[in-house]
Amino acid sequence: MSSKEIPYKIYLTESEMPESWYNVRSAMKTKPAPLLNPGTHEPMKAEELAPVFCEELIAQELDNDTEYFPIPEEVRNFYKMYRPSPLVRAYCLEEALDTPAHIYYKFEGNNTSGSHKLNSAIAQAYYAKKQGLKGVTTETGAGQWGTALSMACGYLGLDCKVYMVKVSYEQKPFRREVMRTYGANVTPSPSETTAIGRKILADHPGTTGSLGCAISEAVEVATSTEGYRYVLGSVLNQVLLHQSIIGLETEAALKKYDIVPDMIIGCAGGGSNLGGLIAPFMRDKIQGKLDARIIAVEPASCPSFTRGVYAYDFCDTGMVCPLAKMYPLGSDFIPSANHAGGLRYHGMSSTLSQLYDDGLMEAVAVEQTAVFEAAERFARVEGILPAPESSHAIKVAIDEALKCKETGEAKNIVFGLTGTGYFDLVAYQKFHDGEMNDYIPTDDELKAYAAKLPKVD
Ligand SMILES: *Cc1c(COP(=O)(O)O)cnc(C)c1O
Repeated sequence: MSSKEIPYKIYLTESEMPESWYNVRSAMKTKPAPLLNPGTHEPMKAEELAPVFCEELIAQELDNDTEYFPIPEEVRNFYKMYRPSPLVRAYCLEEALDTPAHIYYKFEGNNTSGSHKLNSAIAQAYYAKKQGLKGVTTETGAGQWGTALSMACGYLGLDCKVYMVKVSYEQKPFRREVMRTYGANVTPSPSETTAIGRKILADHPGTTGSLGCAISEAVEVATSTEGYRYVLGSVLNQVLLHQSIIGLETEAALKKYDIVPDMIIGCAGGGSNLGGLIAPFMRDKIQGKLDARIIAVEPASCPSFTRGVYAYDFCDTGMVCPLAKMYPLGSDFIPSANHAGGLRYHGMSSTLSQLYDDGLMEAVAVEQTAVFEAAERFARVEGILPAPESSHAIKVAIDEALKCKETGEAKNIVFGLTGTGYFDLVAYQKFHDGEMNDYIPTDDELKAYAAKLPKVD
């Protein structure tokens, strides 16, 4: 244990901010499975991805070997507006729980987008601009990614077209206005503006949309509009690479006080914040230098790791994107309309899926009312109003801290507090009004989705 007094917030200076991103794939003995062409089932080549993605991002996507990618100076300068982010020692939460555990959280909510997503948005917008593109298209679920990308595009002067999952578009009108403030064009998905949107609307009238469906629309627009490419805010290797800034800063902050983590906990939607947070720690774990538990937390209503199968699936509902090997629930999986806690995507990062399959990572599924209880408990003592997504990690961090109370162990628990919940107050309202319930899909439902997974051998 550290002999130095640990402050409430461990800050790094600007000059201590990492100068490169770290590629965790370079440390993996079994590399993540490649993206496959949906027609031929052969690994996607860079030239096949070029109509969809920016060139430099494709290079990052396909590179399993390079350890460090220098962060371009323009991106570093943008980072300096809101980074390095603090690593907070949750003294108040520890006291409230009366636990001997030491709890730390890396807070990524200190920017207008309210989440870690800006870390990859600025990188992706930068490479699009560098390639001379006019703009980018994307999907957004709860709206954090769309907001982050709008900010990045507004800063660099790129056009930004966002397809927003309809249920969120309706529940979160303020998110939409933030995006428009930064100059983005926001369309509720499914929409009449694309062929795939019209088909989905015809097949499922009244659908509230899904990320998979919004992805199909955004990809269609990118590939059919001159000077545009598609960008994605999670799941992809390149996004995990950019998010490694979270883990590298966490590692540097812990080292300042000689703190060795016993547990690293993060929520997992598509896996980008968790992949970024754990990157350097996973390297040390693979190399036998660190013996820490690494825990992914997901919603019980969208249980990819805990109840999905390790298989190839489409990344989108329209089945136009490459196939990715992950722990999917099926590309047409749509969580219960009652689900309010985010993390709705049907699939999971291929990198994290391989690490999970290798037994290097654990996963826990939690029910949403318990997540909001944890969120409230945290908010009342630590002050920050957490995003529901982040609160999945809070829930498990609290559970683990309470276990330490039983055993009397002073474990070091580190978790990712990915963002703030100011735009999630409809969900908080449902919780406070007792209108939130815990819908957990049945085995039969999940089996029916899994039966529709593409056959790849
Ligand atoms: C998007 C988001 C997540 C989940 O996405 P990952 O790619 O799994 O990190 C978690 N927390 C917040 C606040 C988000 O905006």
